[in-house]
Amino acid sequence: MPEFIFAVCQDCGHRRPFAVRQVTCPKCGSEFAEAEYPLDAREGLLAEWRNRDIGLRRFGPLLPLREPERMITLGEGDTPLIPLDHIGQLLGHPKLYAKDERQSPTASFKDRQAALAVSAMKEAGLTEAVVSSTGNVAIAYAAYCARAGIRLTAFLTPTVPADKMRECALYGAHIIKATTSYDASKKLALRFAEERGLFYDRGLRSIPSLESMKTIAFEIAEQLAALEQRPGAPRYVAPDWYVQSISGGLGPIGVGKGFRELHGLGLIDRLPKLAGIQVDGCAPMVSSFARGLATAERVDEPRTRVSTLATGDPGRAYERVKAYIDAHGGAMLAVSDEDGFRAMHQLAKLEGLSMEPGAAVAFAGVIKLIRSGVITPDETVVINCTGHTFPVEPEVLGQQWWRDWETIDTPAQTGSLTPQAEAEGMPAAISRIDTRVRSIAILEDNADSRRLLRRVLQAHSDFAIHEAADGQAGLRLIREQRPDLIILDLMMPGLDGFGVLDALRADEGLRGIPVIVVTARSLSSDERQRLASQVGAVWQKGEFLDDDLLVEVERALK
Ligand SMILES: *Cc1c(COP(=O)(O)O)cnc(C)c1O
Ligand SMILES: [Zn+2]
Repeated sequence: MPEFIFAVCQDCGHRRPFAVRQVTCPKCGSEFAEAEYPLDAREGLLAEWRNRDIGLRRFGPLLPLREPERMITLGEGDTPLIPLDHIGQLLGHPKLYAKDERQSPTASFKDRQAALAVSAMKEAGLTEAVVSSTGNVAIAYAAYCARAGIRLTAFLTPTVPADKMRECALYGAHIIKATTSYDASKKLALRFAEERGLFYDRGLRSIPSLESMKTIAFEIAEQLAALEQRPGAPRYVAPDWYVQSISGGLGPIGVGKGFRELHGLGLIDRLPKLAGIQVDGCAPMVSSFARGLATAERVDEPRTRVSTLATGDPGRAYERVKAYIDAHGGAMLAVSDEDGFRAMHQLAKLEGLSMEPGAAVAFAGVIKLIRSGVITPDETVVINCTGHTFPVEPEVLGQQWWRDWETIDTPAQTGSLTPQAEAEGMPAAISRIDTRVRSIAILEDNADSRRLLRRVLQAHSDFAIHEAADGQAGLRLIREQRPDLIILDLMMPGLDGFGVLDALRADEGLRGIPVIVVTARSLSSDERQRLASQVGAVWQKGEFLDDDLLVEVERALK
């Protein structure tokens, strides 16, 4: 732990020793300050990292705690970096990673903030605190305050899903439901805290809160370095992009500071670009950025179903985000709620990552940035993935996403069966669960592509899937199985896709089977014309998403 940490005023540059309770600059009154560490932090950091201590504590030399080893912890930090293989293939973009903050104790990266901020409060001898939150901060603080023996009052707006409020209450926090906007509830909470002389965590104005987010950057740089696995590879590697959905902006600003510090210590050679994604019903930073404004214009009435992202007044956070992007590159982008829900479903069914809509919005943003060429295929992209998956079935799954055993078991009859009849009927019922009346043949030599196509189709419906890795085997398969649809790759060893199409055309019995071509090859106009007469659709790998393909599949099967 460093002997001294300074708080450097962001407005007048005045340096003062850091103290949790001192929230304003003695010289100019500003509430914005950043922590600064002594130069020997580098040595300490390398030593601590060599110790391989777990969790945030190992970053102690760069954290504003007197005794990091006594930090309050629930096992936050050290979250995995998960490659997005299927989505990456669909987008033609191999280096996409989710920094999986869902695996944190209360399922969001706010646990890092709570661990550090609550520990700092405890070091300062505080026993009561106040937060206002769009949900996740309050949950994290409630949990860590429970451990620290700090009484927490949380101001929440009614848009916070009931499940999240209940979780806060379960941790023993006192919940105040303020029927106002999030921005107004922040003001209420501040007044409440001031009048009672309680500590109010001011997010970006709180040094521990901001500093906690650096640990995301430190871990990402360690993890990307570990992926390189060649001798002499650097110990820390910056991604090309860090992407996060933005509400208050604490995350990206703190992560940016983390990368800046690594760079300043000579541990990484460049800073990542930053992409901040908002929802179009509440995108004050995005619209202010697009207009080149120096300060943010606020959104008075946020209109979004993604309550986590409903900060209409970003205040000074905007300037910090803008300054980072102006200096190091990046993008600000808005997506619709629907884009977010769609991405949420895609990440769940194609990657096994179930995240909350607030986080899915960042993934929807990445899809758009890749599509528009802002993020290029050679770039490494790390996306912050967080998530309480509270009930969102209506947004994502539609009405009928389950089947009742009863209707499968006894399709036409009512009344109870004898135990014996029931036992005899079971195999029949079980066979009825698996309907698989529609069958699809996939002819594709690349095993990853086959797996992706299979996954996309099977997550959608009960198709019977047949697969072949070359044209000859594919033709045999088609003759045996008579599939309802063929998905065909063009470049395959031996008989290629064009050869398969010729053989199908020459066979009266097979001629009518619809074909969809999915190819990595860019086609000449001659080839396109040749395909047009025989093929329902031609998709270029990397240029369509799962739903695009499924629309085509359903059309072909009609
Ligand atoms: C907090 C949070 C955000 C917004 O982060 P900020 O850093 O406050 O802008 C986005 N998504 C999720 C899931 C969050 O919990
Ligand atoms: Zn000052």
